[in-house]
Amino acid sequence: MRIRANKQFHGFMLYVCLGAILLATHPASAQMFHPEGQSIKRSGFRAILNKITISGSLGYARTFYGHKLTNHNLIEREGQLFIAPKESSTQLGDTLLVYTNWFNRPQSAGLVIQEGDKIYYANSTKLGFRGGANGIPFTFSLHYDYKKFKAGLGLTAEWHMMRPFKPIHFKDSIPGFTAEFNSALFMRYFVVLGYRYHEYRNFTFNADVKIGMIRNSKKFDRANMTGGFFVSLGLPVEYVFSEYLRVFARPAFEYKAYQLNLPEVGSAIKHNYSSAFIEIGIRFNYPEIPRCKVDGCRTQLKHIHGGAEFRGQPIHKKQNPKIGENYPQLDKYKWKNKNKLSPF
Ligand SMILES: [Zn+2]
Repeated sequence: MRIRANKQFHGFMLYVCLGAILLATHPASAQMFHPEGQSIKRSGFRAILNKITISGSLGYARTFYGHKLTNHNLIEREGQLFIAPKESSTQLGDTLLVYTNWFNRPQSAGLVIQEGDKIYYANSTKLGFRGGANGIPFTFSLHYDYKKFKAGLGLTAEWHMMRPFKPIHFKDSIPGFTAEFNSALFMRYFVVLGYRYHEYRNFTFNADVKIGMIRNSKKFDRANMTGGFFVSLGLPVEYVFSEYLRVFARPAFEYKAYQLNLPEVGSAIKHNYSSAFIEIGIRFNYPEIPRCKVDGCRTQLKHIHGGAEFRGQPIHKKQNPKIGENYPQLDKYKWKNKNKLSPF
């Protein structure tokens, strides 16, 4: 009997301890106790909103296009280029099924081989072209921070401006070509995962990965296109103004490729178009408490009036600064003082 009572007591104590640990580590979010001992109310809506970081950035992206005509012959007639499957006959007078625009929207046509046509055979060398594009990416994302980790969602709209293509080999004889369009809009939808690996003064150093889908412009023949995934590895560096405001620079490399099928002949061409990125932007967290509006209040820390908590600093300044971190006077008083003959 005694042993059983002891066991029950131990069980009871275990629940009490677990309860105490839970209370200590997970205080109720809507109600908390201020060090001064007052019970204060916080807005639950603000508290939730505060946990979501909103980021916006603008940048520059350089895309490196490249493709090889592995199973295709290249035919040049008076500066115009055509490709045909390497099995096609190339005898004078034969009609070939050829393609133009194999970069974005293959167009088939019949071509009768004539005297003077230049033919580069697929099996004689590495036929292929390289090109590029300059892009202006605008990115918007939302993420949640947990300790040193972050996870979120976002989208990027990129204004993409094409540059000419040049041959990889036979640079003196094969002419280059330009895409049939000058610019296009590319959309990306992604998940982002990140990790903060170092902090130094007001800087944080991070690594992140974005994984998602890229939707090329309608200028591409999407029906005959496969691919569409991209992976972007970035190393964002942030400058922390306060717990609500950070600015960042994100250098990144993005890997991606697509394949365009030539349905009438059953072959395909793979295009690589990886990009180097640099993005500059801001990250914002909505304050969990409002700014103090009490007239004459010069409190600079987070503080309480009538059971409600207020910020004593504008959004871009540290809320509980150490001595000398913020200005000794609030900005609004500095402005007032400027207009007085004597500042005091
Ligand atoms: Zn106040």
